[in-house]
Amino acid sequence: MDKKKRILVKFSGEALAGTTGFGIDVSILKQISLQIKELVLNDIEVSIVIGGGNIIRGVSASAGGIIKRASGDHMGMLATVINAIAMREALENAGMDVRVQSAIKMEAICETFILGRAQRHLEKGRVVIFAAGTGNPFFTTDTAATLRAIEIEADLIIKATKVNGVYDKDPNKYEEAKLLNVLSYEDAMKDNIKVMDDTAIALAKDNNLPIVVCNMFKDGNLLKITNGDFSECSIVRNLNQEI
Ligand code: UDP
Repeated sequence: MDKKKRILVKFSGEALAGTTGFGIDVSILKQISLQIKELVLNDIEVSIVIGGGNIIRGVSASAGGIIKRASGDHMGMLATVINAIAMREALENAGMDVRVQSAIKMEAICETFILGRAQRHLEKGRVVIFAAGTGNPFFTTDTAATLRAIEIEADLIIKATKVNGVYDKDPNKYEEAKLLNVLSYEDAMKDNIKVMDDTAIALAKDNNLPIVVCNMFKDGNLLKITNGDFSECSIVRNLNQEI
């Protein structure tokens, strides 16, 4: 039997907020769950990381000088757990079997991250949501997502955004902005591009993990990408290697 495809999809917390900019928009959760369901029905092993920016980020929480950065980051990691629980509910409502694993132990709410256990869940067709980032302050959920993707030996990490991918200039400002289809890890680290933070990209590069940036609001997009059609998104990968 062919090895099943395994992917990790990263959603920013802000994406969940919809147009309100804060909190959780249930219609977005529904939309995401339909796309995830399509993947599961196609026998793809799916894991998810969601940010916490729709609730709180460590950097902004600590900006006023009262809250220490590490404490702000703890708050940020807890925000990702709130989002993970909301996403679990939405996915379960859509008929999927789901487990949340947190990097910080909170056993009354969800499982603690255990790699082997996460892998077993995936093999059984369960969607696994990794919450609480890396469990450490001073990291981002992009880094957490990359780390988990490498640990579970995912084929691909998909960064699901509001735009089609990475452009040579801001597509909201310039009509002539061009979508960059293929980028090297070095390109992805450039200041004007910054697909993810440097720590996340360095991890992906060292472990040859391709990163796809795509539009989460295009129906069928996640399945299309997982099936190897990268025509309408951007892929960051080792340009010397075929994938
Ligand atoms: N965070 C952290 N360690 C991690 C991941 C996240 O401290 O490993 C905190 C950090 O404060 C961050 C917040 O959680 O700002 C929310 O994550 P992020 O900003 O990456 O969310 P997104 O931008 O994807 O919504």
